[in-house]
Amino acid sequence: MRRHSAPIKGLPCYPSRGNMLYDIIVVGSGVSGLAGAMYAGRLGLKTLVIGEMRGGSITLTHMVENYPGFISIGGMELADKIEAHARAYPNVEIKDGKASKIARKSDDTFSIESDAGKYECRTVLYATGTEWRKLGVKGEKEFANKGVHYCALCDGGFYKGKTVAVIGGADCAVKDTLLLTQFASKVYVIYRGDRIRAEPANYDALVKHPKIEIIYNTNVLEILGEKKASGVILDKPYNGSGRLPLDAVFVAVGHSPLSALAKEAGVETDSKGYVKINRNSETSVPGFFAAGDVSDNRFKQVITGVGEAVNAAYSAYSYLEEKKK
Ligand code: NAP
Repeated sequence: MRRHSAPIKGLPCYPSRGNMLYDIIVVGSGVSGLAGAMYAGRLGLKTLVIGEMRGGSITLTHMVENYPGFISIGGMELADKIEAHARAYPNVEIKDGKASKIARKSDDTFSIESDAGKYECRTVLYATGTEWRKLGVKGEKEFANKGVHYCALCDGGFYKGKTVAVIGGADCAVKDTLLLTQFASKVYVIYRGDRIRAEPANYDALVKHPKIEIIYNTNVLEILGEKKASGVILDKPYNGSGRLPLDAVFVAVGHSPLSALAKEAGVETDSKGYVKINRNSETSVPGFFAAGDVSDNRFKQVITGVGEAVNAAYSAYSYLEEKKK
């Protein structure tokens, strides 16, 4: 794993406060968490990031074309740049690990248990993101990684010249479909609705692509196969058949928030489990901030997550300054 052992030349160097109590612990090392850490670093806060997947879900996106300053940049490259920016501050530490408990203590500090160790902090920035939502049909679990996939960038390359389908009809499904055309000879989109919701530029590319065929108003009832997935059963016939033979199915039916630890710490969530935040990225618990896809903001993009996280870092800094008075 790469590490910058010394501050990057030319950047300011803030003194660490030199005790074991962190000013802020960022839970989640996706781009939102890393951006929050970068800003906390700039503000001179003793900062620790604990996360399982450095860079987070954007690293599974082939190209990002809506992050200002980059007309087009690979998801991995963008995450690497944000991580390097966070590491430029010597008061920012990044540890690989899974947080398992966050508790608010009687003195208004927090303790965080993780498989990287147990830590204490004055504030928390919760940026755990989301996980892939499952379709919940027969065959999905049985053929997971055997023709049923959730990450087109990771697994699309196995299907060169094959016929695959993407299930879903929003941004992720459309981006996955476009990516899969680079490998597969045919890509079906199976969508339960009649109006695909994606960024217009991606939607235009989707409907014009000669390899793509969209099946509207249709649900998948079952994923078929023996040793691996070989097709799906549809809830209404398509071209005269209720069965569609396929080499792989890519499920892109949305995400569920990873908010369990925040809920256990007493943080309020909305009806879908997303962490409620205000314009300052504050949650219902003082000193506990949240940002990125796990938050209840409607528009979920790298740029919005990064913005929320920077806001959270500044709010944490203001909260700590206020406490000093
Ligand atoms: P999403 O916006 O929640 O869309 C989920 C899609 O799956 C919808 O089309 C939904 O159908 C369908 N669906 C949900 N449950 C289903 C089920 N049980 N069976 C069949 N279909 C089902 O999720 P997302 O596309 O993963 O995007 C998540 C967030 O990331 C969004 O805010 C999105 O804008 C953002 N994002 C943006 C980009 C970009 O290029 N800017 C790329 C990726 C993600 P209905 O339409 O009928 O509800």
